[in-house]
Amino acid sequence: MVTENLKEVEARICAACERAGRDRSEVTLIAVSKTKPVEMIREAMEAGICEFGENKVQEMTEKWEIIKEPLHWHLIGHLQRNKVKYIVDRVHLIHSVDSVRLAEQINLEAGKKSKVCDILLEVNIAGEDSKFGLRPEEVMETVQTIAPMPHVRVRGLMTVAPFVENAEENRKHFRNMKKLMVDITGKNIDNVSMDILSMGMTGDYEVAIEEGATMVRVGTGIFGERVYNYS
Ligand SMILES: *Cc1c(COP(=O)(O)O)cnc(C)c1O
Repeated sequence: MVTENLKEVEARICAACERAGRDRSEVTLIAVSKTKPVEMIREAMEAGICEFGENKVQEMTEKWEIIKEPLHWHLIGHLQRNKVKYIVDRVHLIHSVDSVRLAEQINLEAGKKSKVCDILLEVNIAGEDSKFGLRPEEVMETVQTIAPMPHVRVRGLMTVAPFVENAEENRKHFRNMKKLMVDITGKNIDNVSMDILSMGMTGDYEVAIEEGATMVRVGTGIFGERVYNYS
């Protein structure tokens, strides 16, 4: 199933790139494997995927215990400061930085390991009460505050767009994310390279690509519906 689904997702990504006049190489597909077993991750690896997304530190580190291959792991869920130490030396990119305090903690823990940790700032682009993320108007100042931290590098922005029936409803939000990126890039801030725009999930990744996403995070479309264990 995973192999078939990946073919479908890949075809849709290619088509969206084509519509937008973009090269396929500009978009990285992250396979969001949260709640899914290691066997399914291995199936995706067989199909050539090496970028995986998890939203919980514990689940990610448990999977690291089993999967030793050098994959790129992306932390895409809310991160608590006391858990930074468990992932900082092995995570490829943290997508969900939503405060200066969290960035400070990442800087501290990465420093202990003489590393530089790549991060994205999460933006609550639609201003939803239920969502994590910075308000759009806070982003510029936050980037400027984090920029001088020697063990953290801001690589771009991430958003989780609203859950909608029709992906077109999110186009305006993706467009606003792109505008925010361009504004920050224009400031030429030292130690900041705004080259990653992480947006688009199963329901709306094609629209996100049309509006400039460089990373899409697809879970259900690759691994099928998630079943949560409410215990
Ligand atoms: C779960 C999750 C995804 C993937 O969602 P799907 O709709 O299953 O593709 C993407 N991004 C974040 C932050 C997530 O938590």
